[in-house]
Amino acid sequence: MHGIHRLLIPTPFAVGTVNCYLVEDEPLTLLDTGPNSGKALDELERALAARGHRIEDLERIVVSHQHMDHLGLVDILARRSGAEICALDLLAPLLEDFAAEAERDDELAETLMLAHGIPRDVVTALRSVSRAYRGWGTSATVDRRLADGDRLAFRDRTWEVQHRPGHSPSDTIFWDEERSVLLGADHLIGHISSNPVISRPLGGRSGEHDPERRPHALETYVASLQLTRALPAAVVLPGHGEPVTEHAKLIDERFALHERRARRIGRLIAERPRSAYEIAQAMWGTVAVTQAYLTLSEVLGHVDLLLSRGAVVEVEADGLVRFETAG
Ligand SMILES: [Zn+2]
Repeated sequence: MHGIHRLLIPTPFAVGTVNCYLVEDEPLTLLDTGPNSGKALDELERALAARGHRIEDLERIVVSHQHMDHLGLVDILARRSGAEICALDLLAPLLEDFAAEAERDDELAETLMLAHGIPRDVVTALRSVSRAYRGWGTSATVDRRLADGDRLAFRDRTWEVQHRPGHSPSDTIFWDEERSVLLGADHLIGHISSNPVISRPLGGRSGEHDPERRPHALETYVASLQLTRALPAAVVLPGHGEPVTEHAKLIDERFALHERRARRIGRLIAERPRSAYEIAQAMWGTVAVTQAYLTLSEVLGHVDLLLSRGAVVEVEADGLVRFETAG
């Protein structure tokens, strides 16, 4: 569609394949790369060849956000092609020192998991899983730092860069106003509701976060979705799954889902004070180790909505945080 071709690249993650988009324009551009694996590289090479291109032909690589399934091959592809790497200015420092930044994210995750009742053996196991996974990411030097509101020009089109934090702090979407096409990456996915993962805020001093105020990822995400809802997009091309039409309707469904979950969590807390881990267990039963932090992020995101409304309060005793009904 409009010279944009979806390349389905395999990932080792639960999400399955990732959508990378080849833009046949000048410069020849790839949005997102797939994870850093031989399998992903083979498949990308094959998908490019099917359209008559080689990796060496790529002239520009754009990275949508900080997750490994989207950026893992960026360094290898840029080295082979000489393509310029474009990414949000706030994402650039993270991309340039990926392993160290990922380690700091894991430190935040560990602190939060222990404070919210996740057993230490689960936390330790998840930390080793995360280290083992890290090779699917990469570091790379960003050639062009994009600011929110910048325009990325091609011969036949222009993309407006829009920062939409929430799913991750660096989520960036690209808006082709002329064609009403939005390249949305993981900001909006049709078949799954994007999880707002609690991550260190970008742009602060290196490694710094305020333990007294954890990032409110879901609230940030909701504000971003409201901006996206207002765009007159005919189609959203997401980071996973099929193109999304009627994005405003989908966003409204997501808002309704957030509201239902927040109410359900409010009822669980009304029964008795609970930690976020206890809430996650009540909602989803025993969750896989690899999902422990994602479900914690999900619960805390919704608890944040209740905290902001003054419906619940946070009580800490002996290093464990519990939530109880206000008043
Ligand atoms: Zn993704």
